[in-house]
Amino acid sequence: MAMTGWVHSFESMAAVDGEGLRCAVFLAGCPLRCAYCHNPDTWYPRTGAETDAEQMVRKIARYKPYFGDLGGVTFSGGEPLLQAEWLREMVPLLEKEGIHYVVDTSGALPLTDTVKEVLSGAQSVLLDLKFWDGESYRQYTGQGIERPLETLRYLNDIEKKTRIRTVIVPGINDREELLEKYLSHLTGMACVERYELLGFHTMGFFKYEKLGISNSLAKTPALSEERRKELQKFVDERLSFTRI
Ligand code: SF4
Repeated sequence: MAMTGWVHSFESMAAVDGEGLRCAVFLAGCPLRCAYCHNPDTWYPRTGAETDAEQMVRKIARYKPYFGDLGGVTFSGGEPLLQAEWLREMVPLLEKEGIHYVVDTSGALPLTDTVKEVLSGAQSVLLDLKFWDGESYRQYTGQGIERPLETLRYLNDIEKKTRIRTVIVPGINDREELLEKYLSHLTGMACVERYELLGFHTMGFFKYEKLGISNSLAKTPALSEERRKELQKFVDERLSFTRI
């Protein structure tokens, strides 16, 4: 019997999670508990719709006429690599359809052969670098920084086009001297084509209330777009010097 996967939600035209026009598949389940998470409803495995690889690829393929050369599908979550076996089943089916895929991951899972296979087949990878050191990473996500850094080294070894992303939260990591520490992890990482800063927002707060989960950042304001741009400029100016 074909293996099934659990899909939290499906977005038919997402212009932001990767290059070109894309479908986004949000897979259910996440091992992290990021303090700033705006999708706590994706944390739980085996929720949403259960579907097999063929059904999923058929659904994605309906949007093929819109993808063009750069578009395709982005697997996000939750943490998509929690269901790496299922993703691996989809890889040859997507290849047959000529559809590229992007993986949007926290890099927090062990680098098993299956995880490596899924990452190496991707058109590109969106990798979160959530916090700047082991202590802060553990404090705000519940896990260590080792696996994300190991994932980054692997992506660099296989020369996979990688975009690093960090959510900037006022009062936690919105300072230039901390961004220097983030950048130090990118030293020598030629695979990194871009380092993107995302502003913390409060649009997911209602989900915490609905799910009855305590929200440790309930009093934290959203990051202003002006400040985000300032910090983005700061990392852009330094990135070209650190990655080589
Ligand atoms: S990795 Fe993503 S989905 Fe998981 S807790 Fe963090 S922000 Fe939320």
